[in-house]
Amino acid sequence: MQASTQRQVAIVGSGPSGFYAAEALLASGLDVAIDLIERLPVPFGLVRYGVAPDHQKLKEVTRVFTALANDSRLRFMGHVTVGRDVSVNELLECYDAVIVACGANSDRRMRVPGEELAGSHPASDFVGWYNAHPDHAAHVFDLSGNTATIVGHGNVAIDICRILAKGPTLLGSTDIAAHALETLARSEIHHIHLIGRRGPAQMKFTAKELRELGTLPGWDVVVEPGALVLDTASAYELAQPQSAVAARNVQFLREMSQRPRSNNRTIEFRFLRSPVELTGNGSVERLVLDKNMLSGEPFKQHTVATGETETIATSTVFRSIGYAGVPFPGLPFDASSGVIPNLQGRVLDNGAPQARTYVTGWIKRGPTGIIGTNRADSIETVASLLTDWAAHPLAADGREGHAALRALLSQRGIRVTSFDDWRTIDEEEIRRGKARGQIRAKIVDIDELLDVAVRKPGKTLASDNASIPQPYLQP
Ligand code: NAP
Repeated sequence: MQASTQRQVAIVGSGPSGFYAAEALLASGLDVAIDLIERLPVPFGLVRYGVAPDHQKLKEVTRVFTALANDSRLRFMGHVTVGRDVSVNELLECYDAVIVACGANSDRRMRVPGEELAGSHPASDFVGWYNAHPDHAAHVFDLSGNTATIVGHGNVAIDICRILAKGPTLLGSTDIAAHALETLARSEIHHIHLIGRRGPAQMKFTAKELRELGTLPGWDVVVEPGALVLDTASAYELAQPQSAVAARNVQFLREMSQRPRSNNRTIEFRFLRSPVELTGNGSVERLVLDKNMLSGEPFKQHTVATGETETIATSTVFRSIGYAGVPFPGLPFDASSGVIPNLQGRVLDNGAPQARTYVTGWIKRGPTGIIGTNRADSIETVASLLTDWAAHPLAADGREGHAALRALLSQRGIRVTSFDDWRTIDEEEIRRGKARGQIRAKIVDIDELLDVAVRKPGKTLASDNASIPQPYLQP
């Protein structure tokens, strides 16, 4: 029997924002029991499946998350899809509060003709594919052409560019997916275009990420002549203190543009170009771009087409123009901004707070910021929750939390993975990686992940004898 003073919380999503919400709750001083519910059998969301394999340092944050998972008040429940295996309303029957931290699982669309041609890919497909995400493992990328074009001047575009440019020699020891290494080994890409719709002052790269492109062996960074001459408003922007990173980035490109070329492979920055059409006979052969100029006040400059166009011959296009949230079953959704409407993390339904329901991370604020940004975001959400709890004392016959959800999932034959199961998978991936000279060989297939977890000597999954479940609820 649970002590009636204990607050039961379900957090949906075990990426950074989910773990940071758990951290804030555990630090609250209140008696809490938290279930961290995850769709995949393994934890860490975008840290495992979004951070590039050659940026292992960024993945070290999983140590912080693992330390949190070692706290007996936090339980990881993997391989449970909310909206299919259990509904939000059912979670609200089991828990005192539900915090949704499901991220932004889709991409913005360019909305131009030819976007769906073979060879045109959303960034998330490529990122998920090279990171061995089960949903993306089956994608096929044909890198047999000479030129790849990446649309967008954000950090995801840089990640994609770096992975294409580094190839298997420099990536072979990382935890990149085996299928990606094979494809990259056959890549014929010699030219990568990085296309921005605005100017150099408006690039969204962080300085370290951009500078890294200048260190890639065998590749030159090229900037088209005249592109670094700024309009008055952009020059004003760069001179402001908040533009320190942007100014460093422009300075870096100035340095790059003066370096003599020494390689036959190029990463070329193009500015003031908006995609208007992709053309080709069954697959992408050309990308048509409008040439733009900027208009508007500093920091609010938007693009205006000049009427001139340019066509780039390219057989591969990556649309890296930002992620987009998708509706979460059972909760309101603001389609125009791609988030769950909320006030400081309290979910709003037609403008009014929906009882005991909260959001955090990208599905709360949109797909912006680095991993650490989610910490402050989750602290804000948990502060809202604590304020609401202070105003509403617990009922004497408290909700059962974990035990109630376990019973429900067991009835439905859902095989739930624990953090201990993750440890088994983790060990196995590291063991397999060692055999191949990689720091980790990620297991892609969900059934195999479940099998590896269960095969640990003397150990069974929670509902090991259950048959593989059919979706209980309609998505
Ligand atoms: P992002 O930083 O928002 O960049 C999106 C880019 O796409 C911008 O250049 C934007 O231009 C452009 N764009 C948007 N709509 C467009 C359209 N219709 N046509 C042409 N261009 C368009 O998004 P992201 O690169 O996906 O990154 C998401 C978040 O993850 C960012 O906060 C990023 O810093 C973070 N991240 C961090 C790391 C890291 O720390 N190493 C790695 C990866 C991602 P405008 O500026 O004109 O809108």
